[in-house]
Amino acid sequence: MSKRRRSWAEPYKIKVVEPLRMTTRRYRERAIEQAHYNTFLLRSEDVYIDLLTDSGTAAMSDYQWAGMMQGDEAYAGSKNFYHLADMVRKYYGYPYIVPTHQGRGAEHILAKMLIRPGDFIPGNMYFTTTRAHQELAGGTFRDVIVDQAHDPTSLHPFKGNVDIHKLERLIDEVGADNIPYINMQASVNMAGGQPFSLANLRQVRQVCTEHGIKIFLDATRAMENAWFIKMVEPGQQERSCAQILADMCALTDGCTMSGKKDLLVNVGGFLALRDERLYRKACELVVLYEGLHTYGGMAGRDMEAMARGIEEAIQDDHLAARIGQVQYLGHKLLAEKVPIVQPIGGHAVYLDAARFLPHIRQHEFPAQALTAALYLESGVRAMERGIVSAGRDPVSGEHRYPKLELVRLTIPRRVYTQAHMDVVAESVIACYEQRTNIGGLEMTYEPETLRFFQAEFKPLAAWATTLRQEESRTVGYRRDASGFKI
Ligand SMILES: *Cc1c(COP(=O)(O)O)cnc(C)c1O
Repeated sequence: MSKRRRSWAEPYKIKVVEPLRMTTRRYRERAIEQAHYNTFLLRSEDVYIDLLTDSGTAAMSDYQWAGMMQGDEAYAGSKNFYHLADMVRKYYGYPYIVPTHQGRGAEHILAKMLIRPGDFIPGNMYFTTTRAHQELAGGTFRDVIVDQAHDPTSLHPFKGNVDIHKLERLIDEVGADNIPYINMQASVNMAGGQPFSLANLRQVRQVCTEHGIKIFLDATRAMENAWFIKMVEPGQQERSCAQILADMCALTDGCTMSGKKDLLVNVGGFLALRDERLYRKACELVVLYEGLHTYGGMAGRDMEAMARGIEEAIQDDHLAARIGQVQYLGHKLLAEKVPIVQPIGGHAVYLDAARFLPHIRQHEFPAQALTAALYLESGVRAMERGIVSAGRDPVSGEHRYPKLELVRLTIPRRVYTQAHMDVVAESVIACYEQRTNIGGLEMTYEPETLRFFQAEFKPLAAWATTLRQEESRTVGYRRDASGFKI
């Protein structure tokens, strides 16, 4: 048999199914109007293919579900905790772990332990909860990612890399004493799921060792990052993702983890550490904020599912199928010249709304409008990652105008099939062909913090008229209505 695999076919078969509800265009017009043109406010039942997020949305295996039945729900010293700790040691190589209810619980404890007011925490682009906990502890986040990460057309294979000069400049400017650690995020989410290279991490390690700065890995999608290293970094092709992950972790002092992403579970996370003194401190804090240090806010059964998820998620054939599916969708869109962020990332395909809808000005929310148009077209739910997500500048009160105005199509792990990806691609392409009919939005309600979750919108006058015409045209249209009332 040839060594080269021709396809990324799933390394599993389906045992349990969950029926999807299909809706008519007219039904969706009502639903999106009631959700105020914000996909976060839609009811999940009204969604056909849900690409809002890959967080906690994975399908568990029969092995994981069997493990759920072996939950040891003791308050202290659950056997599932020891299994989880063993798996973290085996695959990530950190000797100490503290479970947390999810990733932000670990970020909270780490920030509280290490950040003093006035400190600076460099990172390869921000992540919402990570930065929020750094700021809550009195620190200031500084972005040290390579410039290419901010350019959706740059084909740089490692757009998650740290720009070493930016890091050195920051050390010169504020002094190493005021930088407790650098936060190194794998598969950088806000840049489009972009990996860093092992070579870059080694350089970061060198600079940090020189200056006595720790490195904490945000390992949430470290396995997916390892897969990209295997695919493109010179000399890594014959190595397994497990070996590469071990190398990544060996270069760092610990990690924060949201198990809801890589680890194929619906909830859970952990903080992992090398330093025993720090571990003892973390044990004190976790008791205050999460739960005893052997459960940290997780049920025994959930720790067991995560322990088993680690073993499944690190397999090369799982990662090839998982990322292969994302690439499959991305390539379908590229073939039709739909503008997307390149290279295609590990967990999502990002539509470039700025190029998709050049006729909508940024303050009329092109990416938000595109999520609404896509839902109207087919019931596919996506997420805005543009001016709405960026929020307002706290000083001037003006909108922040981010360089990236994106719509994220996030693929849950092991949930949808290739045929679902075909439908998603067809829907996006249909929107692209009718893009001049899509109009801007106006915001009618704006929460003060993290506004993207609950903001409300309505279509600007011209688009509202088109939508009304569309509605009258589609009355009685039942091609895909499956037995529910309009
Ligand atoms: C989701 C996520 C987190 C936060 O984890 P939660 O489990 O949602 O609390 C942190 N970092 C990254 C990169 C994430 O994607």
